[in-house]
This record gives sequence, structure tokens and C-alpha cells, in this order.
Amino acid sequence: MSNTKAYAAQSATSPLAPWSFERRAPKPHDVQIEILYCGVCHSDLHTARNEWGGTIYPNVPGHEIVGRVTAIGDHVKKFKVGDLAAIGCLVDSCRECDNCKEGLEQYCSNGSVGTYNSQEKDGSGITYGGYSKSIVAHEDFVLTISDKLPLEAVAPLLCAGITTYSPLRHWKIGKGHKVAVLGLGGLGHMGVKLAASMGADVTMLSHTASKQKDAERLGAHHFVLTSDAEQVKAVTKTFDFILDTVSAEHDYNVYLNMLKTDGVMVCVGAPPAPAKVPAFNLILNRRSLAGSLIGGLPETQEMLDYCAAHNIVSDVEVINIKDINDAYERMLKGDVRYRFVIDMSTL
Ligand code: NAP
Ligand code: ZN
Ligand code: ZN
Repeated sequence: MSNTKAYAAQSATSPLAPWSFERRAPKPHDVQIEILYCGVCHSDLHTARNEWGGTIYPNVPGHEIVGRVTAIGDHVKKFKVGDLAAIGCLVDSCRECDNCKEGLEQYCSNGSVGTYNSQEKDGSGITYGGYSKSIVAHEDFVLTISDKLPLEAVAPLLCAGITTYSPLRHWKIGKGHKVAVLGLGGLGHMGVKLAASMGADVTMLSHTASKQKDAERLGAHHFVLTSDAEQVKAVTKTFDFILDTVSAEHDYNVYLNMLKTDGVMVCVGAPPAPAKVPAFNLILNRRSLAGSLIGGLPETQEMLDYCAAHNIVSDVEVINIKDINDAYERMLKGDVRYRFVIDMSTL
């Protein structure tokens, strides 16, 4: 066991503050990583503040983790001490169910183990995430990353990257598709970069006019200001595919009406309040409304390799961990260009 410094929320209303806890010593298949950078996902905020319910306190968020291997168990094959390594949203699953066997560990029928706020399979306690000095996980849940890309900008790929890559691949997005990405935040900016890199014609749907130039720089071919009724009307029945990354309550029907016949809208954004969708908005034009959760381990590695090959990283603002509570407030205002990443040497 090793005592590990961290930042934790002690309740839904208390700001994140210094805390420490015990990490297990590496078991034979475990990898121990010194965390160098950890991205700040809106899911961290939803969880720390118990917006989805079910948060166990103290809560140490963080699931966009990159670092260096500091110890390995005797049976570890994939890593050696000193290697770069990364951990995303999962640290364990049953590995026996049909979904796990297919590499869809995020949909494990017996319940996957999240990097934070989950019960460990062996009953040893709660998982604590990447707002901490180090982490220990089974090598099957540890990913390899390129040493050619800036590490701090790779960190957000572990959640924002895979969460947008996975649905784009599942729905086979590419050349000839008209794709819209709704919400230009952490997930949204990766959605734009990835969809554009796959050859799609990309429209950014944003409620922030000042993000237009950035959207175009990130690869969007068109920009629609969603607070402008005329601009919204002009894209009625336009898109094959919409990736909805919005974190707050919004009217899904506005965006369903932008889909062509057989169009698909995939929700990856997870507002706490349920959405209201009349069946007719799906029936007319045979539209689909779907969801998608992060990605499995094989696909996460595929995405990291794809990003390394195509030189794709996140646009980041590196912060000191003492500024994490301000970063949460700024994220709520949509004031992040486009992912906060904590420099863990400041802990
Ligand atoms: P984020 O960086 O805060 O971005 C969210 C964006 O949504 C904002 O930048 C803003 O874009 C838009 N937005 C925010 N409030 C809005 C409002 N009131 N009305 C309209 N648009 C609004 O968050 P994120 O880290 O990308 O996460 C987005 C959501 O995805 C969160 O709910 C998170 O929990 C969820 N998530 C899901 C998965 C999954 O597996 N499905 C994985 C990770 C995260 P504009 O300024 O451009 O409008
Ligand atoms: Zn996340
Ligand atoms: Zn399983």
C-alpha cells in the first residue's frame, strides 16, 4: 500500500480540496503509474456534485490520465518501468461476458469498474481517479501512448477523444456524410477534429457566437449559432448524423428536426434531467435517437494510434490543481478552450 496525495470532494456542495488515501501495491498483472497530467471532464463535475446521483464520498474524479510507469507486477508483459502509459474511464470489467469478449468492456453485462466512484471487483473498496499522484490498474486496462505528441494534449483523448471517436466509427462516418457536432466544449472540439479527419462535411452547432473562428480552425466547414432562429431553420433536414455533446438541459427536438430521412442523432452529452421527445419527431423521416458510452479498450487503443498517426491532440489549458474549483465554474459557463488539463506536478 502507498499513501497517495489527491484532491477530493467530501460532499456534493464542498469544493475539491487536498486529501490522501491508500493505493494498493501492484499485484502480478498490475501497472503502477505516476500521473503527470489529468484532463478535466464535465463528467467529473457532474459526479463531484452528485448531479447524476450515486456519488460515493470522498470522491476523487479524473479519468483522462497520462503518466509514466513506476512499478510493474511480475506477470506484466505490455509495460516496463519508465514507459509512458495512460488510463481512461475504465479500470476493470468481468472479461467473461459477451460484451467484454467483443472488446466492449464499457457495456460489461456484469458491470464495468469506472476509474472513479466504482466498487472494486475484489471488494477492496471504491476506485479513486486521476486527480492524484499515482494509480494502479491491471495491464489490460492500461493503454500505450506515443512519445511524439505533447503529453498534456494527449490526456483528453482518454475520454473526450474515445467518446467521440467510437460513435463516429460505429455509424461509419466518412466522406459524403453531412455531420453536425452540437456543443463546442471538450467532447465537441474532439468530435469536430475527428469527424473532419474522417472526411465528413462538418457543421458546428453552438450557442456561443465567439466560438465560430475556433470551430473553423478546428476543422468545421460550417457554423450555426443555435440561438439564431433563422440559422436553425436554414439547416432543417440537412444532416445525416448529429453528435450531441451538450452537458446541460436542452430541447432535443430542435436538433432532431435537422436530420434528413434516416438520420441519426447520438447523445453523448449526459444532462441530469430527462429529455422530452414526441414519437412523431422520430416517426416522421424515420429518424433515430441513440446514445453511446466512451469506448472499449481495443477501440481506445485504436483511437490513440489513429490520433498519433494523424497528429490529432486536444486543445488544452494547463492548470495548477489548486485552481480546479475555478476551472469547474468556468466549464459551467462554457469558458474553456477546449479542455482543462491538470499539471499533476502542482499537487
Ligand atoms: P464541456 O467541455 O463543458 O462542453 C459542453 C458544451 O455544451 C459547452 O461548451 C457548450 O458549447 C454546450 N453547452 C453548455 N451548456 C449549454 C446550455 N445550457 N445550452 C446549450 N449548450 C450548452 O463538457 P464535456 O466535458 O465536453 O462533456 C459534455 C457532456 O458529455 C457532459 O454531460 C459529460 O458528462 C458527457 N460525457 C459523456 C460521455 C459518454 O460516454 N457518453 C463521456 C464523457 C462525457 P457551446 O458553447 O458551443 O454551445
Ligand atoms: Zn469523461
Ligand atoms: Zn463483462
